Amino acid sequence: MRKKTQLIHGGVDIDKNVGAMSPPIYQASTFRQNGVGNFTYEYARTGNPTREALETLIADLEKGKRGFAFASGMAAIAAVMDLFQAGDHILVTDDVYGGTYRYMTKILNNRNIDVTFIDSSDLEKVKENIRQETKAIFMETPTNPLLKITDIQALAGISKENNLKLIVDNTFNTPYWQSPIENGANIVIHSATKYLGGHSDLVAGLIVVDDEQLGEDIHFIQNATGGVLAPYDSWLLIRGIRTLGVRMEEIESNTDKIVAFLVKHPQVEKIYYPGLPAHPNHDIHVKQSGGYGGMVSFTVENEEKAMEVLNKVRYFTLAESLGAVESLISLPAKMTHASIPRERRIELGIEDGLIRLSVGLEDVEDLIEDLKQALA
Ligand SMILES: *Cc1c(COP(=O)(O)O)cnc(C)c1O
Repeated sequence: MRKKTQLIHGGVDIDKNVGAMSPPIYQASTFRQNGVGNFTYEYARTGNPTREALETLIADLEKGKRGFAFASGMAAIAAVMDLFQAGDHILVTDDVYGGTYRYMTKILNNRNIDVTFIDSSDLEKVKENIRQETKAIFMETPTNPLLKITDIQALAGISKENNLKLIVDNTFNTPYWQSPIENGANIVIHSATKYLGGHSDLVAGLIVVDDEQLGEDIHFIQNATGGVLAPYDSWLLIRGIRTLGVRMEEIESNTDKIVAFLVKHPQVEKIYYPGLPAHPNHDIHVKQSGGYGGMVSFTVENEEKAMEVLNKVRYFTLAESLGAVESLISLPAKMTHASIPRERRIELGIEDGLIRLSVGLEDVEDLIEDLKQALA
């Protein structure tokens, strides 16, 4: 099955009972047992058929063994972190999602799990920071908001040699373009709130694992901690995923044109986009991904100029989040990354004049005209 077909016919595509083309929403918390201990579903925290339809679909799309749906991306990340114990050490990509950084520094550390933030695109740095207690590498590629690229296969090699789990947050590039498990990752995480849902109407998280034992472990954690996705939201997410292919293709084409416009604009200083041949890891991205995605960051002179752009745009909506049908614009330093101290932000390259775009599905001519008048 090719990708666009799998988005529609992967997982549980047609309801077994009446042939409904859309999977039924089993709005049920408990299920009759045929006899004590004789049941398919028992209690909806443990398993619900609508959630399972989604979990099977994402496992197919990410080429893993099992999938799991959570009430948010952060709930999914927290569940994966529950695999680890006091005394363990984890290596994490340095410009990870702000919420992930907050979780790692304010919650995991209280559980006595030590985290080191490193530039995961620097393989020597990664190797140098592995210790006896290191259990996993947690990475994003492309990252947020600087679109840094890490070689998944190379990190998978290092992980294997050192008996670590490789965890990849695949939110930005989606399984439509990038398959971390095929490149050796053990666990894939999504904030399905973004491209997979795709319509700014849902908060959800997903996990896919590459082996049965990890599947048992994550299912135990999912059931024991209970941050599950509700049946209605599971259904809504399946509905979103069906159109992921056409959305990603159109977003790709729009983004390509917007980047071509930004490259020539005199007010634009730096541009961060893996599709530019000048991007330091352009070749690695091309090797491991079929598309560049709809995220672009660029800098203007200073915060004032950036604020002016944000205030003047009409079709780009000023909002957090990304990956939806609407084009969004944000100022990472003041919004998504405000929870990272300024000193650390500057160190990472998240300047005050850095603007982040999430390109959507509006007519690209309108989007370009909008940026043109806002930058003028
Ligand atoms: C949004 C996001 C998250 C967190 O997901 P929520 O659904 O908001 O909880 C995690 N990782 C990345 C890369 C994200 O963009």
